[in-house]
Formats: sequence, C-alpha cells, structure tokens
Amino acid sequence: MRFLVTGGAGFIGSALANRLAAEGHEVRVLDDLSAGDPSRLHADVSFARGDVNDIPKLWTLLQGVECVYHLAARVSVPESALYPREYNAVNVGGTVAVLEAMRDAGVRRVVFSSSGAVYGEQAQQPLHESMLPNPSSPYAVSKLAAEGYLRVMGIRWGIETVSLRIFNAYGPGQPLPASHPPVIPSFLRHALRGGSIIVHGDGEQTRDYVYIDDVVAALVAAATAEGVDQQVINVGSGVETSVNELIEAISATLGKPLTPLYVRNQDRGVSRMCADLRRAAELLGFTPKVSLAEGLALTLERDPRFALAAR
Ligand code: NAD
Repeated sequence: MRFLVTGGAGFIGSALANRLAAEGHEVRVLDDLSAGDPSRLHADVSFARGDVNDIPKLWTLLQGVECVYHLAARVSVPESALYPREYNAVNVGGTVAVLEAMRDAGVRRVVFSSSGAVYGEQAQQPLHESMLPNPSSPYAVSKLAAEGYLRVMGIRWGIETVSLRIFNAYGPGQPLPASHPPVIPSFLRHALRGGSIIVHGDGEQTRDYVYIDDVVAALVAAATAEGVDQQVINVGSGVETSVNELIEAISATLGKPLTPLYVRNQDRGVSRMCADLRRAAELLGFTPKVSLAEGLALTLERDPRFALAAR
C-alpha cells in the first residue's frame, strides 16, 4: 500500500513509518520539523518538510495514497494551556486541512492519533469509548474537536475515518524537550544522572503507559481492519500505574534506589487513567504485548541517550 504519515518525523510517526517501510509499503512523510527529526527515518521512507495546513503540498503528497496516518500535532498538555490558539490551529485546523485535501485527492481512509486525554476526570475506570469525554486542557479539547471533524466530514465526503485514543506512549526515541518533558524519559534521565525525581502532587495519580511497539501494532492494524469506519478506539496497556509505582519500576529496572521529590502545589493532572481495551481487541485484534518492566528495559537498551549512561 501507499501511505502518507503526517508528523512522521516524530516519536510515534517515525516508528510507524519505519515499520511500514520494513513491511514493503511505500511511505511518504510530511513534517514541519517543529519537534521531529528526519534522521530517525529509514532511507526507504520519502520525507517532505512542510506544514500540515499547506493544502497544495498535501495534494502532491496524496497522489495515489490509500491511507493517511494523521499524527502531526502539538503534543504537550501543559504547553497547550499557554498557547491554545496555536494548538487549535495545528491540531484542529491541520486535521480539517488533511480531510479537505484527502477529499480532493480521493483517498479512502484516515487513521487519526487522538488521545486518552479526551476523557479527562471520570467517575469510573477503566475508560471506555462510550463514556462522555470531559477534556480538561486545550490539547484534549483539540483532539476531541478533531475527532468530531473526522466523523462529520468523513460521512459527507465518503472518507473512512478511525480515531485511536492513544494513552501514554513511551519507548526509545521519545523526545525530551527542555520544558514539559514526558514523564518516562524525564525520570530515566534524572535517575541515571543521580538527580532527584520531581513528582507533581503526591504521586498517586495513575496513567496507562503503553510501549511504542504496541502503539505501532494498533496503528498498522487500523489501516486495513474491517468495520472500523467512524470508530473511536482506545490504545493503551490496560494497566493502571501510579507515578509512585512507575518510580518503583524504574528503580527495579536500574537496580538502584531513587528519591522522589514531591512538589505538592503543582497541578498533577487528572487523577486516574486506564484504558478499557475491549473495543481494540474486537475491532483491531489488538492486545498489548510489552509489560512496563519489559518496556522500560527495552527503552534503556535501545535508546542511545540512556544506553551509555546505564552501563
Ligand atoms: P511528536 O511531537 O514526536 O510528533 C509530532 C510530530 O508532528 C513532530 O514530528 C512535529 O514536528 C510534527 N508537527 C507538529 N506541528 C506540525 C505541523 N504544523 N505540520 C507538520 N508537522 C507538524 O509526538 P508523538 O508523541 O510522536 O505524537 C504523535 C501523535 O500522537 C500526536 O498527534 C499526538 O497528539 C498523538 N498522541 C501521542 C501520545 C503519546 O503519549 N506520545 C498519546 C496520545 C496521542
């Protein structure tokens, strides 16, 4: 098949593009490199630098494409509260632009990387797709709005749309920006350098950490699965892990004690997140394969930023 991956030079997009190319597919990537790095991409993947709102560029890249993976986005929950207009322009406007260009180019399906963040605070766990979303950040609002555009424009324009609500993905190559870094690579870096691990709140908030290979497996399945049009599907590990438990797991992987530093007045985000994976199993044949302990060990082994320091 021929694919376009928007945001394909990023953490998840590059892992996906490389996997599709390794399976013999023709893969094109569009990324503005605001966070991505094209050197992550295998030589067989063709790379174009550009903005996801650039419709003429999308028309060119979409020629002959059967399925678009739309991953290009601004991705930080805390940062989105500082720049809501930018998050709206890229995450919502960019999705509408991709849909318009797909309509013009006659592309059959789009698989969209939505987020578990759309659930926000809920009375019950695990989080099922039938629950009413309760987004609590501009990032989460932008993902929910994009899901809405996919559904509505998909019906009008005859495009098959699938939204995967990805929970906390982690693994080798995850970016570590100076501000608002994701929790796992940030904790690993501090743990390896012997620094304190800063925890927002009491560390009892939970998340669902899913290893990159499992996320990629779900994305790959979504391109060809039957009966997924108009669907929203959770992609996680199905395991609820508190930040304190995550620190224990990192400590066990590294074989050394760690000292968390609790900053109680910091916003700790939603209190609980755990994905219900029944729909993913039914529609995508998806079951996560990599446990947190295995995923942490693989991240240390395969990510050159950590591999050296861990020796
Ligand atoms: P990432 O930042 O590594 O990847 C996003 C990519 O999009 C980057 O390469 C960036 O350069 C590119 N991009 C940003 N703005 C763009 C624009 N205007 N035009 C073209 N490209 C642009 O983040 P990631 O973790 O790989 O996330 C990929 C997707 O998965 C995002 O849509 C994100 O919201 C979603 N997601 C990620 C997670 C996670 O835990 N990592 C969880 C849920 C959903």
